[in-house]
Amino acid sequence: MPDQMYDICILGCGPAGLSAAINAKIRNKEIIVLGTEICSPPLHKAQKIDNYPGFYGITGEDLLAKFLEHALAMKIRIHHSKVELINADGDGTFNLLIEGGVLNSRSIIIATGIPYKPTLPREEAYLGKGLGYCATCDGPLYRNKDVVIIAHDAEGEMEANYMAGICSRVYYLPLYKDWGQLDAKITLVQDRPAGIIGDEYVKGLELKGGTVINADGLFVLGGETAPDRIISGLEILENHIQVDHEQKTNIPGVYAAGDCTGKPYQIAKSVGEGQVAGLNASKYANPQE
Ligand SMILES: Cc1cc2nc3c(=O)[nH]c(=O)nc-3n(C[C@H](O)[C@H](O)[C@H](O)COP(=O)(O)OP(=O)(O)OC[C@H]3O[C@@H](n4cnc5c(N)ncnc54)[C@H](O)[C@@H]3O)c2cc1C
Repeated sequence: MPDQMYDICILGCGPAGLSAAINAKIRNKEIIVLGTEICSPPLHKAQKIDNYPGFYGITGEDLLAKFLEHALAMKIRIHHSKVELINADGDGTFNLLIEGGVLNSRSIIIATGIPYKPTLPREEAYLGKGLGYCATCDGPLYRNKDVVIIAHDAEGEMEANYMAGICSRVYYLPLYKDWGQLDAKITLVQDRPAGIIGDEYVKGLELKGGTVINADGLFVLGGETAPDRIISGLEILENHIQVDHEQKTNIPGVYAAGDCTGKPYQIAKSVGEGQVAGLNASKYANPQE
């Protein structure tokens, strides 16, 4: 990953993120798009789209492939990694923590899709008190301790294998089928999570089957990430990022577009908001142009 200053870092390679990227690229901005391996899991699942102009009856998978083809033809760089944390730098720019590195950017567009729904009851109450969303970030805190990892997708396996090297015991509970190669030290748990055990701090996890796993730490990996956990101070209203008609959030230089800003959760709305965010973030990044 080159150590450079981007004009815009775009979180999400779904319809909103790609539309933002296309419009920023046309304005010659230095951009990078971050997102999961399957860009837009919801669109990928849609069997038939009848309401996106020009593509009547297309499958979501095919429409997504066309969006990506367009972006790649314009040499838009898509890096398959999620952004874990964004910090504002003193000079008004941003640092973005991604797996294996840090990116620097003048502005940000958040296009991370439908808002986060907690996996467990009262998850919020335990955040930072034994509950985390990035095992590799917090791993050293759990050296020689016991942890439970609940993973929404196979990306959790890498983090579990890393934790197996430093923790006493690692329990791995996949919320997906076909898990892959896990370290021999890891205990696979084939049940559903019911709730967190512990008064103030995490002491374990109760399973739907009634079993309780005692643990010092609990990680929930994958699934959607709440945007205000990625960038602190971001204004959220009824679970959606608050934006104005220019797709500006309450943080200068940070824009948001698509499902993450509210209903209707639809492609055309995401593409439209992505365009507005792309144009306004471009202006923000280089106001003199
Ligand atoms: C079954 C189904 C059928 C549908 N049918 C239709 C339809 O017929 N017509 C219609 O208009 N809409 C339909 N939709 C809705 C449509 O798919 C969504 O509205 C659209 O995909 C939203 O686009 P988006 O770019 O806002 O978010 P998404 O497409 O959800 O993309 C979000 C992106 O953000 C990324 N991301 C998340 N967290 C991070 C992070 N921390 N860092 C970096 N990247 C991150 C994800 O990897 C993903 O790339 C359907 C949805 C489903 C599930």
